[in-house]
Amino acid sequence: MKTALIVIDMIKDFVTGKFGFPGAVKIVPGIQRLLAAARSRGVPVIYACDAHSPEDPELRVWGEHAMAGTEGSEVIPELRPVKGDVVVTKHTYDVFQAPGLKKLLRRKGVEELILTGVVTEICIQHSAAGAFFNGYRVIVPEDCVASPDARAKRYSLNYMRRIYGAQITNSREIIRGWVK
Ligand code: ZN
Repeated sequence: MKTALIVIDMIKDFVTGKFGFPGAVKIVPGIQRLLAAARSRGVPVIYACDAHSPEDPELRVWGEHAMAGTEGSEVIPELRPVKGDVVVTKHTYDVFQAPGLKKLLRRKGVEELILTGVVTEICIQHSAAGAFFNGYRVIVPEDCVASPDARAKRYSLNYMRRIYGAQITNSREIIRGWVK
């Protein structure tokens, strides 16, 4: 099954900036390991990053964050995309709302998504829903997703497993499966 690695909202505002939290920094090494393994195996790497406009509905809930063109919407330097990676921008929680993502996945023949990044019960979970509704299998490595609320993270992982049939695993297991 063809898999793609999706890195969601590992941008300055969510990791080290306005909405940053220690858990987001903690998952960086796991994502780095997955990125290295994916790139060396030709697994497509796609970054999906908030880049908001003032009229986005989300701003009514959270206030201004990750505004398009600002530093806050840039991927953190530790996870900087490299040549061959794709970066798509989104205006709300679900990566499937990002223009062009579905077409891109279809073109690459992807059937399964590894979801990483922040926040577990917000953008990761909504993206798992988007993936499910669009017919994609979902894998969530729990050491590569984070929430400031540990209970919410636990609940969300369980929810994604029960409701979307997501496989909850960790980065080492995924990489072990790849080198077989
Ligand atoms: Zn947002």
